[in-house]
Amino acid sequence: MTDGIHCLPIPTPFAVGRVNCYLIEDDPLTLVDTGPNSGKALDELEQALRAHGRRIEDLQRIVVTHQHLDHMGLLGILARRSGAEVVALDLLAPVLEEFGAYAERDDELAEALMLRHGIPRDVVTALRAVSRSFRGWGGSAPVDRRLADGEELAFAGRTLQALHRPGHSPSDTLFWDAERRVLIGGDHLIGHISSNPLISRPLGGRSGEPGDGRPRALVTYMRSLRETREMPIDVVLAGHGEPVTAHAKLIDERFALHERRAAKIAGLIAERPLTAYEIAQALWGNVAVTQAYLTLSEVLGHVDLLIERGEIRESEAGGVIRYEAA
Ligand SMILES: [Zn+2]
Repeated sequence: MTDGIHCLPIPTPFAVGRVNCYLIEDDPLTLVDTGPNSGKALDELEQALRAHGRRIEDLQRIVVTHQHLDHMGLLGILARRSGAEVVALDLLAPVLEEFGAYAERDDELAEALMLRHGIPRDVVTALRAVSRSFRGWGGSAPVDRRLADGEELAFAGRTLQALHRPGHSPSDTLFWDAERRVLIGGDHLIGHISSNPLISRPLGGRSGEPGDGRPRALVTYMRSLRETREMPIDVVLAGHGEPVTAHAKLIDERFALHERRAAKIAGLIAERPLTAYEIAQALWGNVAVTQAYLTLSEVLGHVDLLIERGEIRESEAGGVIRYEAA
């Protein structure tokens, strides 16, 4: 079923643990995702390739599933050393080519959102510094081939169709082998954890247009999951953890989780108007600074669901947004 595809779990400095890169033994020899930009990740990637009789220099094609550091950090180093063709969704290409500039603009969006939703200035400033220091795990490379949503990528022994399914990130791309019913899924669907829809700058297409109001990451993500649910998938090769074999059941569980969380947030807002920051504190207490944006994204995602259903509405005072029962 997954013939010719090897999972290479590469260490990351992040809470998520190892990231799964995939080596596709086909013509061209292809690596899907790279691991973060660290000496340890590079070492382990070399060892993992060696276990399959390959070296970095043998890679002929590198495919990236989305814009997160643990999936693309080593891209520049690997592309230079191997001369491999770099392939990505057309909307992702500019991010990969100018990662630092994109990350800076993304941080500006995050900072404005955090202040607007009641997160104290000192927390925002601290988080901005953390984010800058994290950027070192990223990397850039010229993209040789840009795939449109739905375009097919041919190999000697298989064809992978690129599908833009944003939500976890604006650039989430699935690679679908319809003949074998195998989906290389990046972080779109992970078995052991619910994929956080982190609010990031839209990249166009299905992720929304840049500057088009506050991105609604969870609404976007759930729309993408609904489409994936209908696919005749046998196995999802996930970006973290074990392969997923019952994707529809797992997606239903995720929907149920988001419904429970939305109901809980609606209950809090029914008592009195709250900022998204106050909702996050009520749900999770005083989280670590590094988690502040993650939890804000989580709250705003569910707030968007409630607004869409007309259960709550937002009001603004002094540049800060509060939510109240409709
Ligand atoms: Zn990710």
